[in-house]
Amino acid sequence: MKVLVTGGAGYIGSVVAWELIRQGDEVVVLDNLYMGHREAVPAGAAFVEGDLADRALVERVMAEHRPDAVMHFASHTLVGESMAEPSLYLRDNVVNGLNLIESAVGHGVRRFILSSTANLFDDPAEMPIKSSERIVPGSPYGESKHILERILYWMDRIHGLRYAALRYFNACGAAHEDLGEEHHPETHLIPLVLQVALGQREKIVIFGDDYPTPDGTCIRDYIHVLDLAQAHILALRALDAGSRTYNLGNGKGYSVKEVIETARAVTGHPIPAEVGPRRPGDPAELVADSLAIREELGWEPRYDLRAILESAWAWHKKHPQGYGDQ
Ligand code: UDP
Repeated sequence: MKVLVTGGAGYIGSVVAWELIRQGDEVVVLDNLYMGHREAVPAGAAFVEGDLADRALVERVMAEHRPDAVMHFASHTLVGESMAEPSLYLRDNVVNGLNLIESAVGHGVRRFILSSTANLFDDPAEMPIKSSERIVPGSPYGESKHILERILYWMDRIHGLRYAALRYFNACGAAHEDLGEEHHPETHLIPLVLQVALGQREKIVIFGDDYPTPDGTCIRDYIHVLDLAQAHILALRALDAGSRTYNLGNGKGYSVKEVIETARAVTGHPIPAEVGPRRPGDPAELVADSLAIREELGWEPRYDLRAILESAWAWHKKHPQGYGDQ
């Protein structure tokens, strides 16, 4: 298939694009390089630098490349930032996503994959969280993804656009030592912990140890980016049989302290840690029930926390300054 990957220079988009090419698909990356890195776009992908806000550009890309499917990663993605600047998320993520979806429908694209989020579940009745759980967005970021899921629902009903909404829990790890995670500014636990191990930071601050969890620190479901990539590709191949929505995680939660402990074991570095105040908006526990995609598509995550940290460590060691090193 020919797949248009928006945000294909970003962390998850670049890994999925790389995996698509590895499996023999053709890839066109559309990215404004606002957060993404040109070096992360896999060899073999066509690259268009541009913004989804530019509707005429999106139309040109669709007309020129005629994709069979669209995978949409390009987005603002930070919960905390969205709490400070809600309209950035509610405008850009929604309007740009709608531009893309409308243009895809107009050009006869029949398959669409949306990068969605666990931030839809701010008040889950059950843990682990099923995809049928009641949606309570935890932030304007989560709300923007929820709106896009609803837009896709109607585009399917009215225009027959088959879609998969994939709700990631904590994406992490590196595809290989030259394709990993780099954000500016970095806010995610695993890269920050590894920056301590590299000597780039003095310590890691644990955001609260008074949560109602066994060791008092927050529990998250860390899922390797390569496992996410497989889920995207399985979903893509299954779309003709109908639209679907899945939660994607390992189904096992780890506390912040357990992540730091595992990073110490993997890196051999003491990684000093200090407890600070809670970060606003952090729920105590988020763990995915991914039974639906396991049963329906045979998806099986292959990487545990240790393997995630090993792959991330290999990337960070080789590229201590990220893609700027290459
Ligand atoms: N966290 C932390 N210190 C940091 C960064 C993150 O204690 O410097 C915690 C955060 O409170 C959360 C977990 O690590 O419980 C994962 O946070 P991250 O930002 O990586 O992902 P999120 O869960 O927000 O998507």
